[in-house]
Amino acid sequence: MAVTMNKNYAKLGKNYLFAEIKNRVASYQAAHPQADIIRLGIGDVTRPLPKIVTEAMAQAAREMATAAGFRGYGAEQGYEFLKEAVRKYYAKRGVSLSCEEIFISDGAKSDIGNLTDLFGQDNTVLIPDPVYPVYVDTNVMNGRQIVFLPADEENGFLPMPGPETVGDIIYLCSPNNPTGAVYNKEQLQKWVDFANARGSIILFDAAYECFIQDDLPHSIYEIPGAETCAIEICSLSKKAGFTGTRCGYTVIPSALKRGGFSLNAMWLRRQSTKYNGTSYVVQRGAQAVFTPDGEKAVEENLRYYRGNARIITQALEEMGVYYTGGRNAPYIWLKCPPSQDSWEFFDRLLSECHVVGTPGAGFGSCGWEYLRLTAFGTRKNTLEAMRRIQNGGVFR
Ligand SMILES: *Cc1c(COP(=O)(O)O)cnc(C)c1O
Repeated sequence: MAVTMNKNYAKLGKNYLFAEIKNRVASYQAAHPQADIIRLGIGDVTRPLPKIVTEAMAQAAREMATAAGFRGYGAEQGYEFLKEAVRKYYAKRGVSLSCEEIFISDGAKSDIGNLTDLFGQDNTVLIPDPVYPVYVDTNVMNGRQIVFLPADEENGFLPMPGPETVGDIIYLCSPNNPTGAVYNKEQLQKWVDFANARGSIILFDAAYECFIQDDLPHSIYEIPGAETCAIEICSLSKKAGFTGTRCGYTVIPSALKRGGFSLNAMWLRRQSTKYNGTSYVVQRGAQAVFTPDGEKAVEENLRYYRGNARIITQALEEMGVYYTGGRNAPYIWLKCPPSQDSWEFFDRLLSECHVVGTPGAGFGSCGWEYLRLTAFGTRKNTLEAMRRIQNGGVFR
């Protein structure tokens, strides 16, 4: 008998979005070597790490070279100094957590994928469409049934539960990737009440919380009742430029229980079995993010990206284009001109303006007439891209 395989992998949709973008850009560039192509499509940051972060990491690396400062295996769930920094960060917003409810990780993506370990296969998963593809694919790999919740112009890309809504595991991402839409307190309260009434669990992805400038919830735990129905996943990737350095954290309240299981205890067990912790050096860098000087440096970078977002949204407003996001998120989700789908419009932007966006269709079927632009580019490129789009007449 040969080994049997996880056949769910055969059900995965083709992971072709960024590969296809790359192919189309490469073949256009090959045919037009002179074209100066500006990429406003990728979801990676461009600002370097704050000095205070790299200094802290350098210091930690030097400590590791001494007998007194050397560290071997650390606690799987993170060093106390970093959990304490995260705890205080939440406390400033009125959210009171204990350090045992905070788990340090190597980033949000792995935690989002690994959290699926805690749940039975027979759960129905509710996922908004369009969406960050990780929620979908990790559940397909586990063979779970997925129900999509359409996000569209009518609901402002903020879908709400209704009488017909089903879903044992519910994914919410606010501020949203790709739409940039953000739930307010009342809306999140409805989701929390729904989950508590139904016994569902919300997996709340707060990776972009730091981009919020208006009076909107940064954490689902600002909502009464969330501690009995929600797990929150967060990351330093977009906040502090940690996309390559890798550090995030997940909050699982001790009050969160289902079927006689404490999810906090399950996750602790899962992490101590399958994970050996985030590196000491990186955790020292992460700790620096939460110091007053670290926060100042982060704020400076955020101001830069917000400035880019404003340049993009201002241009779209002048052209009368419908969009969401940009104000409390680094993403701008814009509507393609009539009768052009997202790939057609992608091609047009590329060939007529030499600007690369991300076709909305890549984030789900509800994204087919939208395109995502990001504020993560340089100021110069963002200005030039929007100048070309405005002068190019692609929206006329
Ligand atoms: C970028 C991003 C993350 C962060 O992932 P990391 O693994 O921490 O880099 C999480 N969720 C969403 C929706 C993202 O766009």
